[in-house]
Amino acid sequence: SAPFLDVRDLRVHFPTEDGIVKSVDGVSFALEKGRTLGIVGESGSGKSVTSLALLGLHKGTRAQVSGEIRLEGRDLVALPEHDMRELRGRTVSMIFQDPLSALHPYFTVGAQIAEAYQVHHKVSRKEARDRAVEMLKRVGIPQPDRRAKDYPHQFSGGMRQRAMIAMALVCDPALLIADEPTTALDVTVQAQILDLIRDLQEEFGSAVILITHDLGVVADIADDILVMYGGRRIEYGSVRDVLTQPEHPYTWGLLESMPHIAGDVDRRLNPIAGSPPSLIDLPSGCAFHPRCTFKGWVPDGLCAVERPELLAVAGTDRHIAACHLTAETKQEIRGRRTAQ
Ligand code: SF4
Ligand code: MG
Repeated sequence: SAPFLDVRDLRVHFPTEDGIVKSVDGVSFALEKGRTLGIVGESGSGKSVTSLALLGLHKGTRAQVSGEIRLEGRDLVALPEHDMRELRGRTVSMIFQDPLSALHPYFTVGAQIAEAYQVHHKVSRKEARDRAVEMLKRVGIPQPDRRAKDYPHQFSGGMRQRAMIAMALVCDPALLIADEPTTALDVTVQAQILDLIRDLQEEFGSAVILITHDLGVVADIADDILVMYGGRRIEYGSVRDVLTQPEHPYTWGLLESMPHIAGDVDRRLNPIAGSPPSLIDLPSGCAFHPRCTFKGWVPDGLCAVERPELLAVAGTDRHIAACHLTAETKQEIRGRRTAQ
């Protein structure tokens, strides 16, 4: 049967005065309920724009979206805004990096969660309020009955994040998208929030897409990893495959820039040199070639000329990567790096 979520050849292009910004350019992935996909990349890699397309937030903007986003068989790309509004918050829900962008300062936390519920359910105010308190309790807010009457600014950063998660889950969405949900939080709270998302996923059985620049965040929680660069997929596979045998030099870089002590950003070892590419005018050949320290291993300057295809990695289930390095060369590079 078809996967719960099946994204095929998704493109999100924005026409601007300087040219077409190709934020997402041919991205495909599939996700089942109860599973978590980590989408990883630097800012400007297209990971956030991908998630906004899943919520249909491009509708009514100048963005040109093509491809398919099939959710339980329905194509969200073609869905009119009216029907999308039905799904948003109920079937597909989102947790943002900054809870203050999702929570209104003038309304109590409880009222906002109740309101999110009432948008999609014909219930009394009392029932909606009870549901809000219940959700606050489920996300670990102590004294939820009392805290429901607080305003967002009366909550700590971590508590606000929990409140936003409560609001995102109040309608029991089948798909939850979390965009850098822990980036603004300190390490301890980060770990708590990730645990919470994992627990709630088990409880609610939702599919989760976790968007992050930090491979360490997805290592613990995701089933699959999609690595994006310049709006495209460069590597995709199970967490185990991608983390134990990463195939793309950009993924190698992401892994090396992972702090050895979780969350200790000051100890980042080898951040990838250079900056993300222009989405209007991607570098020729492999879009990563201006920053890649391994292109010399590929003969004839091919990296600057020919775009590498996404190819299946031998001996894996669905691990794919786009790089001209041969399997033998990668083996040799890995060997040297381990020896260092
Ligand atoms: Fe580096 Fe070439 Fe592989 Fe691109 S194709 S990642 S430039 S080695
Ligand atoms: Mg982002």
